[in-house]
Amino acid sequence: MDPNTKSELVIQGIAASKGIAYGQVFLYLQSELEIPRYTVDPDKRVAEIARFEQALVVTRQQISQIQAQVTKNLSEEEALIFDAHQMVLEDQALIGETIRDFQKSGLNIETCFNAVAERYIKAFAEIDDEYLRERAADIKDVAKRVLHVLLGQTAGSLTQLVDKRIIVAQDISPSEAAGVDRSAALGIVTDGGSRTSHAVIVARSMKIPAVVGARNLTTRLQNGDWIMVDGYDGVVIVNPTEQTLFRYGKIEKAQKSFESRLMAVIEQPSRTLDGVDVPLRANIEKPDEVALVKQYRGEGVGLYRTEYLFLSAERIPTEEQQYAAYREIVSGLAPASVTIRTLDVGGDKPLPGDPHLIGPEANPFLGFRAIRMCLQNPGMFKNQLRAILRASAHGKVELMYPMISGADELDRANALLDEARAELKERGQAFDEQLRAGTMIEIPSAAIAGDVLAEKCDFFSIGTNDLIQYLLAIDRGNNRIAHLYDPAHPAVIRILKLIVDTGHAKKIKVSVCGEMAGDPLFAPLLLGLGVDELSMTPTLMPAVKFLIRAMKMSDARELAVAALAQTDPAKTYALIEAFYNERMKAV
Ligand code: PEP
Ligand code: MG
Repeated sequence: MDPNTKSELVIQGIAASKGIAYGQVFLYLQSELEIPRYTVDPDKRVAEIARFEQALVVTRQQISQIQAQVTKNLSEEEALIFDAHQMVLEDQALIGETIRDFQKSGLNIETCFNAVAERYIKAFAEIDDEYLRERAADIKDVAKRVLHVLLGQTAGSLTQLVDKRIIVAQDISPSEAAGVDRSAALGIVTDGGSRTSHAVIVARSMKIPAVVGARNLTTRLQNGDWIMVDGYDGVVIVNPTEQTLFRYGKIEKAQKSFESRLMAVIEQPSRTLDGVDVPLRANIEKPDEVALVKQYRGEGVGLYRTEYLFLSAERIPTEEQQYAAYREIVSGLAPASVTIRTLDVGGDKPLPGDPHLIGPEANPFLGFRAIRMCLQNPGMFKNQLRAILRASAHGKVELMYPMISGADELDRANALLDEARAELKERGQAFDEQLRAGTMIEIPSAAIAGDVLAEKCDFFSIGTNDLIQYLLAIDRGNNRIAHLYDPAHPAVIRILKLIVDTGHAKKIKVSVCGEMAGDPLFAPLLLGLGVDELSMTPTLMPAVKFLIRAMKMSDARELAVAALAQTDPAKTYALIEAFYNERMKAV
């Protein structure tokens, strides 16, 4: 069909994965499964249960295969969703209820399983909690697979997608999304879905433009129709006119050149127009991120969150296991330095290796977490300190304690560090005698009494994520109060200034490793307040470096003075946005 003979139709959905795609529609309509209903003869009932159990085994194998494929093509993280799917298959309540229903009714197992699964899906879908609602989607996806296996049908699959087409579907399950051939799919549009649905996460990681929430688009299109997907603004345009195509061509070119111009700065020094160097360091969670740090030219690591090593293991890792992981990062990045943060579990990060170590608490964020837990488990803590010290023999290491609230904790942590040093000397194992130990400033008491802490450590690193949470009393993970979590609150800006001034008065370096550091709107404000270094997710570095190279530090200082004088966060935003827009005008 000629693209321009029909009139143009613009549909506003939700932007889910950046980029613009133009092409013909591949309508993916998952047909409702037809489930036969019959009574199973009493003498065949044992065999019917065996048939059900066999279908569960086959489904499990199918999911493992998809999981392996996703791990290979995307990442382990993306493949985690399939762990949730395997858990559905192991859910004794779901399976037991199906078998009980079958024994009671004598109806074929597909009918019983479908009825039980639908009850579960309905119950989960009605819960006012996004995480649990996602479980409804998991059960739906898995149940469909089991039913296909029981009925001897192959599941609807996007692998039939051959041409370069834009997939338009009511919704796409994680298994279906995993089957998408990235070279064949130009874009993805779904009637339903949210920005956090798994299909969208997969689309983003494959860099396929996507729009979700396009309501009933599937009913308004036919295979082969021409559409444009604008993944920046969440718009779908059916039968775009020549003018629209021309306009979008320009937008796409401008976006691509914006992104490539940002990327182009990664080879350049992180230096302001008036000649001030600002080290940009990386936040990492795992040794395999060393390559990413190098790709984005990070000047070493400003925050290595060691807890991920503990969270992904079944038991608490030994000194040797920790040493191996730390050494891999340190030697991989040498001579650049790596700031290794000691264990920060508890709060929203329970310790799977030993759940009893922390246990249930009424207020986990105010509870037995991070340094508090380590100081009460000195044996475990010293294992980590020795592992970090030993890694320092292979490059440049700094050590940092999380969640310090006062001088006593810092004294006790430093005393254990001294013991760890002495033990290594006794063992004859090498480490850097000059290793510097700093503290994170992420609790208001540490900020206010920072002068006492600065006497006892070598640097400060501000954890704005927790600092804002504790300063404003806003749980950083709670959606209902997310709008109150405001980095532009005057109390936040004032406390940042206090921390920087306190550190500098005592002649120690002050860096920021919370999310504010990687936000190009806030980075100039932090630098203007006097922050010496910024540490962020590597992929955020190009945008922040671009801005640093386009600004003068003297202007950033003026911005900070103006922001400190402000009491209305909306006006502070206006100030920092104007600063940003002015510098980005040239891009
Ligand atoms: C912070 O609190 O800002 C921080 C960097 O630590 P985390 O996000 O790991 O708590
Ligand atoms: Mg923190």
